[in-house]
Amino acid sequence: MKIKDIRASVHTTSIDVPLLAGKVRGYGREEQKEFVFCEVETDEGLTGVALTGHFLARSVVAALKHHFLPVVADMDPREVEAVHERVWRKLNPRAMTGVVSSALSVLDIALWDINGKHAGRSVASLLGGARTELPTYVTFGFPQYDRETLAAAARLQLEHGFRAMKLVVGVDKGGWREDAARVRVVRETVGDDVDIMIDANYLFTPADAKFLCRAIEDYGITWFEEPLHQNDARAMADLRAHTRIPIAAGQMEGHRWRLRELVERQAVDILQPNACYCGGFTEARKAAHLAQIYNLPVAHGGGWPLFNMHTLAGLMNGWILEWHVGMVQVGELLFPDAPHPVDGRIAIPDLPGLGLAVNRDALRETLVPEH
Ligand SMILES: [Mg+2]
Repeated sequence: MKIKDIRASVHTTSIDVPLLAGKVRGYGREEQKEFVFCEVETDEGLTGVALTGHFLARSVVAALKHHFLPVVADMDPREVEAVHERVWRKLNPRAMTGVVSSALSVLDIALWDINGKHAGRSVASLLGGARTELPTYVTFGFPQYDRETLAAAARLQLEHGFRAMKLVVGVDKGGWREDAARVRVVRETVGDDVDIMIDANYLFTPADAKFLCRAIEDYGITWFEEPLHQNDARAMADLRAHTRIPIAAGQMEGHRWRLRELVERQAVDILQPNACYCGGFTEARKAAHLAQIYNLPVAHGGGWPLFNMHTLAGLMNGWILEWHVGMVQVGELLFPDAPHPVDGRIAIPDLPGLGLAVNRDALRETLVPEH
């Protein structure tokens, strides 16, 4: 079997934020306006699909077309290590991240989809088949909510069956004191038996992160995700040493050496490789194995659960899957038959590959015309 073609395109959509009127363009934060859909075709007629998002989507598409396809054309899609070896040698000998990592991610994910279809097994099974379902947490706590609406949104997610939920911190007027008040509101709303995670998306200084941790230490926070500017591993290790709240990070790190630094510096309690950004399942598996050696779980941040569920289900230290109420609307649009959490748990599709059937109409409707 040989890789014959890589097709990639830029898409955009709008989402509903629960309890707020009107649609929001994109699927979350300011940088989340466009995403990349990629499809790899083989000479035997099998195709594989993948998504990545957020950053420089148009450049990722150009990289796949002009740089990746000439390098990997005619290679066997099952030989993923050979594909990575050639991409690293020809396109990324200086270990950059960003566009090259996002492009490698969608290529690799599509290859695993092809390989699963060829073998008649799910990607989770090919990765090791550690489990057939996963616990999920819902990312619901948008910064647009005032405290009252935040509480109502938390109640809504309880009604939907979620027993773990994440809110954004570090973006509100009022600084860490407002964040602390919002965490308290959510804890008082959901009670003590629900897991609460918080995510700063790199936005705190070390001092402000320490102030917030001190203020919310008694609220039983499950993890504090990506608290600090630049995901600075040295500073995160220092924060971790000063708080009882577990630290999680890694969703946007573009290869295993960046993830290794978080582990080696003892900066994290939970490692969060995201296959759509770190270099696909091939690279996420390496990060998960690294975490196993250090007795760390891998959990999920950065969205795209329909892909990352295979890593967490496949590997023995896979833990809990993120169900981001914005980004999952993209998945529901493009893959309407995909699974959905029931009572906070999601079943991994027992289908070949990723188990995703593409809605071609939605793909056409969301397409951003070429410039
Ligand atoms: Mg995050």
